Amino acid sequence: MRVEADAIVVGAGPAGSAAAASLARAGLTAIVLAGGSPLGWIETVPASIASLLPELGLPHAALRSVGAHCHWHGAGHPALHIDRTEFDLLLRHAACHAGARLCRSRAAGVIHESDRIVGVRTRCGQTLRARMVVDASGSRTWLGRQLALRAQVLSPALIAWRGEADGIPEDMEDGAVRFQPRSDGWLFLATWRGRTTWTAIGRGRRRPDMTPLVALQRQAASNVHWCLTRPVAGRGWLLAGEAAGRLDPAWGQGLVTAVVSGIAAGRTAAACLADPARESVYLAAYDGWFADRIHAAAATLRKRYTDNRINLAATGEGQQ
Ligand SMILES: Cc1cc2nc3c(=O)[nH]c(=O)nc-3n(C[C@H](O)[C@H](O)[C@H](O)COP(=O)(O)OP(=O)(O)OC[C@H]3O[C@@H](n4cnc5c(N)ncnc54)[C@H](O)[C@@H]3O)c2cc1C
Repeated sequence: MRVEADAIVVGAGPAGSAAAASLARAGLTAIVLAGGSPLGWIETVPASIASLLPELGLPHAALRSVGAHCHWHGAGHPALHIDRTEFDLLLRHAACHAGARLCRSRAAGVIHESDRIVGVRTRCGQTLRARMVVDASGSRTWLGRQLALRAQVLSPALIAWRGEADGIPEDMEDGAVRFQPRSDGWLFLATWRGRTTWTAIGRGRRRPDMTPLVALQRQAASNVHWCLTRPVAGRGWLLAGEAAGRLDPAWGQGLVTAVVSGIAAGRTAAACLADPARESVYLAAYDGWFADRIHAAAATLRKRYTDNRINLAATGEGQQ
């Protein structure tokens, strides 16, 4: 069998770039299928995310914050805002600098050999064979769908809206943030240089009314119900980031989890390749670690909602 690379990573978001950088830094050849462009939104991350950068070969200082610093869910959790385009490109650069090869194509089909995954077919018609495949394709879970894996749903249907508006609410200062619980969801506002970035979880697909703010950019809705793919690893494959599992944006740990699980998936793949006889042990450990992380985070977030008198069930108007 001709093998193009030790590993193929599907998706060049934060999880995919972290996995590719981690594989390349372990001395393995990795091809990243970069099938999409970075998102272009501002997102909030714990300030501690900078401590992960050296593991990708980047200095702490490479993380650039835009907008106001804030505290996420109370004091003691310093957070900052980052530009997703900049962040995703920074991590892609780290992966390439470590030696991963970027291929601007999308994964279209999976190659099996008996009960093992041994590569990917791309939309451009390439057949890429590898000893491990890491799916970091985000919430659509490309490989999960190909393998018809089950998604364990951990919340009612939830829709998040986000957008950007010209101007700031009268009762907010420039450079401030606010988390506004509502009985059926929440609204998060961050103001910066005369603009307001907002994220809301509301009822079903109804667009939240943001008047008197004037919409600037496109507004977008996403399904953000909590889910965990079962399992997140098998013979020749691993899922990382949102492809493996997610909670809604109030979690505030989506990007950290993408990077941490990308690094862990890269290391697990490297361990499997170095010691194939123990592959099932390494994969089971990764699967257990990821599932525990999501279940623990779900318990914490559920409590946070209860404390804020937010009834998640009341948001489930539009079922998926
Ligand atoms: C409204 C909203 C607000 C959010 N706010 C925050 C926040 O403030 N803080 C935070 O930490 N998190 C936030 N999140 C979550 C955060 O955006 C995700 O956790 C993060 O993007 C997950 O990274 P990822 O690498 O797993 O997936 P993604 O960032 O989705 O990257 C996946 C990549 O794979 C590509 N891809 C997909 N299919 C294929 C294919 N077949 N072949 C090749 N490439 C493919 C995609 O185009 C994409 O580039 C928010 C999410 C939403 C919806």
